[in-house]
Amino acid sequence: MTDVSMLKENLNKINERLRRAAVKRGVSPEEITLVAVTKTVPAEAINAAHQLGINNFGENRVQEALSKIDFLPGDIHLHFIGHLQSNKVRHVVPVFDLIHSLDSIKLAGVIQKEGEKRDRKVNVLLQVNIGDEKSKFGFKREEVEDALVELATYRNLKVLGLMTVAPFLPDPEEVRPYFRLLYQLFKSIKIPGIEMKYLSMGMSNDFEVAVEEGANMVRLGTALFGDRLKK
Ligand SMILES: *Cc1c(COP(=O)(O)O)cnc(C)c1O
Repeated sequence: MTDVSMLKENLNKINERLRRAAVKRGVSPEEITLVAVTKTVPAEAINAAHQLGINNFGENRVQEALSKIDFLPGDIHLHFIGHLQSNKVRHVVPVFDLIHSLDSIKLAGVIQKEGEKRDRKVNVLLQVNIGDEKSKFGFKREEVEDALVELATYRNLKVLGLMTVAPFLPDPEEVRPYFRLLYQLFKSIKIPGIEMKYLSMGMSNDFEVAVEEGANMVRLGTALFGDRLKK
């Protein structure tokens, strides 16, 4: 059973924290898109969140996302946020509105081909490994500019911004410099055909700091749905 009152309470708290962070940043709270991360969350709870006004949902596993899709409202925007394997691209492109996790030129080539086959543009964010962590996917900071110049020539790919999974540090203040670095990079990109519209950074433990540093898309799982069962 979905605990709707808990969900509502969590959402109210998140919205208030987002509002405060936006005000601190000097932007309107409406400019911040909340992506509710629904990995391990059953379709029933996703529907409850939708009824509370959430329209953007993120999944990080293809199989899990596809298993729920038939039980979700038709008017939602789906975000793919996990590492995407080339052989899954054909399943992801028709279902997801935005792929946050474009993490290699090779993957971009596969997505481009899939877009071409379907005669449409696929919306992506370039994933940046801002903390230079061995355990994380994404382009290194110094690779981003060249990668974007290359991707600008891919006709069926539409780059709409940058995404990062920042280093996990218990004190979100310690993550602030990483967010600041990515925002600076985001702002510095001036490449024809590349739109720097979305900066996807900030998760449950650090989203306020992310917004204060310029994020306009945050990805929240546990803050909204509670602790996941560890898989
Ligand atoms: C799980 C996940 C999130 C959400 O994490 P929480 O800490 O539960 O908010 C955000 N982004 C990515 C890429 C994730 O895998």
